[in-house]
Amino acid sequence: MTDNFDLEHIWHPYTSMTQPLPTFKVKRAYGATIELDDGRTLIDGMSSWWCAIHGYNHPELNQAVTDQLQNMSHIMFGGLTHDPAIELGKILLKITPPSLDKIFYADSGSVAVEVALKMAVQFWTAQGQPQKTNFITTRSGYHGDTWNAMSVCDPVTGMHQIFGTSLPNRLFVAAPQTKFHEEWNPQDIAELEQAIQQNHEHIAALIIEPIVQGAGGMRFYHPEYLRQAKVLCEKYHLLLIFDEIATGFGRTGKLFAWEHAQVEPDIMCLGKGLTGGYMTLSATLTTTHVAETISRGEAGVFMHGPTFMANPLACAVALKSTQLLIEQDWQANIKRIEQQLSQHLVPLNELDYVADVRVLGAIGVVELTFNVDMKTLQQQFVDRGIWIRPFGKLVYVMPPYVITQQELSDLLEQLVEVVKTLQGAH
Ligand code: PMP
Repeated sequence: MTDNFDLEHIWHPYTSMTQPLPTFKVKRAYGATIELDDGRTLIDGMSSWWCAIHGYNHPELNQAVTDQLQNMSHIMFGGLTHDPAIELGKILLKITPPSLDKIFYADSGSVAVEVALKMAVQFWTAQGQPQKTNFITTRSGYHGDTWNAMSVCDPVTGMHQIFGTSLPNRLFVAAPQTKFHEEWNPQDIAELEQAIQQNHEHIAALIIEPIVQGAGGMRFYHPEYLRQAKVLCEKYHLLLIFDEIATGFGRTGKLFAWEHAQVEPDIMCLGKGLTGGYMTLSATLTTTHVAETISRGEAGVFMHGPTFMANPLACAVALKSTQLLIEQDWQANIKRIEQQLSQHLVPLNELDYVADVRVLGAIGVVELTFNVDMKTLQQQFVDRGIWIRPFGKLVYVMPPYVITQQELSDLLEQLVEVVKTLQGAH
């Protein structure tokens, strides 16, 4: 357990300061192992919320940071540039949708989303349609914790309902219902179609997490939804924004989730796994058309410029992380993880208090019929030597891709045992 200073003075994510959830002090982490201060080791099932795709303390990523440190850790991006930003940009353009051509670097996923929303508004203003300022999205989405990112999160599961009417009022339609592997139900798009038809004059863009809705419910939906959404966006003049912050860099079995549908967005947000989890960095990519339109507008510029924009340390490690990923047979590795996840987790479906088990790429989700007691469950996981942080009704894993077969088996066996002990706990 942590000492009292942490408990008394330091806020943790989504936590009370008077009744904080327990925290476990980490001494170091390597590969898929988290070593606690008291010497216990945990197998990591979370990749530090999607991002540590190559595991911790990776020698090549460490080297990339160390090398960059010798040159400069940071330099302002206004009026200056550097190789890490340029080389990272080149590789990102190679692996993202072909129509994306311009890159805006920012400092976190939420800010990448803010940037995307601002781009959409500036685009329509420059097109002589300044009334197109609102956004449409689906329920069960999650796009970050800053003000406008919050406003497009699911109003209930997105953790921001407490802010009520202080948030801008967005248009929400039902979350996609047809599951990833199910047969497409054409009715699934009807509500979105109707809402766009009725409100398109005031909507700048549709923002959506392609294929996997993450923190808003860990739901995997049918690629046809995106294909139809794209058609609607074109017909009614809306930009399409894909938030690939969680889904990017191989997690769903494709390098980016848009590939499942082969639908290209106008704007795409990257973050999390971009730096292999080494530090915070995000990128918002867009098309030449959007970028040139914004630049021809009255302002003539895009109005954003964070202090730590394109931080060289972050760009250097992101470049190395992306190279590491694409130079290996990452598809086979994700398949291996996917198969193991299915093999261990699918049998949990037989329990009457398990509502659903779903696996896609290196993501495994067990949805229960009741909300878990995070505090108790997390303690049980730690006692069994694994690191999993459940939320709501969801116990889910998304391990670092370097996790070995043995480690993953151990992780999943313990997870399954703990879920089985929940019998009678609800
Ligand atoms: N979009 C998605 C899809 C996310 O999962 C997250 C983070 N959970 C964000 C945006 C926000 O990213 P950050 O926490 O880096 O601000």
